[in-house]
Amino acid sequence: MPGEFKIIERLRKAAGRPSGALVLGIGDDCAAFRPAPGFETLATSDMLVEGVHFRLSQGLSAVGYKSMAANISDILACGGKPLYALVAVGLREKGSMRAALSLYAGLRKCADKFGVKIVGGDTVRSEKLVISITALGEVASGKAVTRGGARPGDYILVTGELGNGAAALKKNSAWLPPLRPELSAALCGRGLVSSMIDISDGLSSELYHLCAESKTGALIYEELVPLSKAALKLSGGNRRKALSAAFSGGEDYELLLSVPAEFLGTALKLGSKYSKFTVLGRMLPAGKGVKVFSGGKAKALPRGGYDAFL
Ligand SMILES: [Mg+2]
Repeated sequence: MPGEFKIIERLRKAAGRPSGALVLGIGDDCAAFRPAPGFETLATSDMLVEGVHFRLSQGLSAVGYKSMAANISDILACGGKPLYALVAVGLREKGSMRAALSLYAGLRKCADKFGVKIVGGDTVRSEKLVISITALGEVASGKAVTRGGARPGDYILVTGELGNGAAALKKNSAWLPPLRPELSAALCGRGLVSSMIDISDGLSSELYHLCAESKTGALIYEELVPLSKAALKLSGGNRRKALSAAFSGGEDYELLLSVPAEFLGTALKLGSKYSKFTVLGRMLPAGKGVKVFSGGKAKALPRGGYDAFL
């Protein structure tokens, strides 16, 4: 295993010189950046542990990409613009330099794609590979979209297709989420979104989070859920099996959001420019519970384990 300096040196070269709002980049004790006037800084962090969140056999480049994407996804879910990332990695003593570089290549590929600069971090030796990323972004002051802003009557929408994350896991690979920066910026910039969350743990639990924070209930329609081709293929075209991948599979990193009824037309028109964008149902008063319309009637939505429900 090469020394920490060698890895930092390689990262530093790859990161280039600090420019614009970034005053101090990688390699010093701290990074420094100037927040834009009228904006707030968003911060989020996510930790992935070998054997718990990923397997080495999924490919380190893909694991790196997914780790960075999970963090960027959280910034987008608040309506923010992702800017910087700090990457802390515990590298296995027995691991090769090639494996470490492959991991960093994946991290950088994702960061570059979404305009995120890696501005610092740490590397240590570890028994298992551990990746902890802190992402920073910005949002216009007071405009961060939270999980708690939905009101009864708001429409519930989802970007893209669901079940890709679960399908990839079953094939022992990692889903590289497309992420939706343009859609998030277009809708949130116009104040069309009342609440939003990214789907890291499956549609069911994310909808419960929105309802809990917004103090609402919800009704979504099972037949409207957009299923990915990968999920349908893996379940041999069995829609009900594919639904369980969407509801409880997770790691899709699509956006689940609510839009007040008066903005629905505008939101659909704008959002559809950037992604498949599907209405799933509506928010209800809290007393109505969180429900899914399935097999001709509205039933309580299982929090996880949709399999058992089918
Ligand atoms: Mg999230």
